[in-house]
Amino acid sequence: MTCDRAMEAYLRLDRDEAPSRELAAHIESCPLCGREVWGLTASLQAFPPTADCRPGRDLAGPVMARIADLKAAPGPDALSWRSREERPLLSLYNWIGTGLMILAGMILIPYSTIPPLLNRIVGPDWELSLHLVLGLVITIYTTLFIGSHLTDLRRLLKMR
Ligand SMILES: [Zn+2]
Repeated sequence: MTCDRAMEAYLRLDRDEAPSRELAAHIESCPLCGREVWGLTASLQAFPPTADCRPGRDLAGPVMARIADLKAAPGPDALSWRSREERPLLSLYNWIGTGLMILAGMILIPYSTIPPLLNRIVGPDWELSLHLVLGLVITIYTTLFIGSHLTDLRRLLKMR
């Protein structure tokens, strides 16, 4: 029995449960685990024994009724119950903002320092490479937008 296995088995025991013969033999023979078990036992004995503690009345009924209320009326508290899939990764405002920035970039590129720079680096065919890059950017943007809004899209198509 390895030390990891032994400590795992020891910690899985209930408070007054006796360890298996194999575990007891390991704790007895291994100074590392023996010290660990001794420390844990000493820590547990430092706590005063707890009194038998039971609620005055059965709480299962009221608690389950409260949970049923929470599920029936989704308030701000119930938002955390929504699955991760339902929550969008980015808000629609962020998507629109990004789209507008891409559009502004496309409009402003001819007035920027990029065309002469591309002309020097790529040569006279720079316009073709710019259009290829912009096409790639728009494709990636559209793919990500549709991919992250599949649930909304499905809902929209079902409504019609
Ligand atoms: Zn050990």
